[in-house]
Amino acid sequence: MKRLLYALTLCLLALTGCNHSASDKSQRIKELKKEYNKFIALTFDDGPSTLTPRILDILEQHNATATFFVIGSQVDASTEPTIKRAQEIGCEIGSHSFTHPYMSQLTPEEQTLQSQQTINAIEQYAPTPKYFRPPYMDADDTTHNIVPQIFIGGYCPDDWDANVSAEERIKGLMENATDGLIFILHDFKDNNGTAEALASVIPALQAQGYGLVSVDELFTIKGVTPQKGIIYKKAK
Ligand SMILES: [Zn+2]
Repeated sequence: MKRLLYALTLCLLALTGCNHSASDKSQRIKELKKEYNKFIALTFDDGPSTLTPRILDILEQHNATATFFVIGSQVDASTEPTIKRAQEIGCEIGSHSFTHPYMSQLTPEEQTLQSQQTINAIEQYAPTPKYFRPPYMDADDTTHNIVPQIFIGGYCPDDWDANVSAEERIKGLMENATDGLIFILHDFKDNNGTAEALASVIPALQAQGYGLVSVDELFTIKGVTPQKGIIYKKAK
């Protein structure tokens, strides 16, 4: 009998553990809805890199979250701590292909490889990705058929371009901010202008009533069930 009780207790503990993160998520969303009345999803492409920890510091400081669309070939033991920390502060990991090619220029077999290798790489350190950002926003029918994730676009202030200053990035983000939108930013190595812009854009938008969240949180908050075959620039 004692043994049975012990086993039952273990089962209960295991069940509680399983529900923990789901209830954490709904609790966070409840709190966000209390604090903010508009929402924008932050996304970062082309990492993880040495810039990513700096981006995570800024997000954590302001209680903001984001989706990181990682390049599969950069997901390895050296970036594992960054990927894990991103999840610890509530961020999610999405796919941005394995080597950042123009997907439509590849054979179906090559596209499958780009997708599957990235999923495998991410699954070492994170849940199976739910979202995909096509490199250069280039995708054909084959890409839509082969890649199992929901496709995500958004507004980009051209922050991949070294000639676009941090001030111009801030201006682009502030002028285009609208409820339900997805922002595309880049956390590749040495893209310091984006970290600089982010540090002032997040508090400025929060002061205007915007919560900054991950793509999955944005869809949940907006009550949208995203479909395949569409590239979402906003949650609607
Ligand atoms: Zn990219």
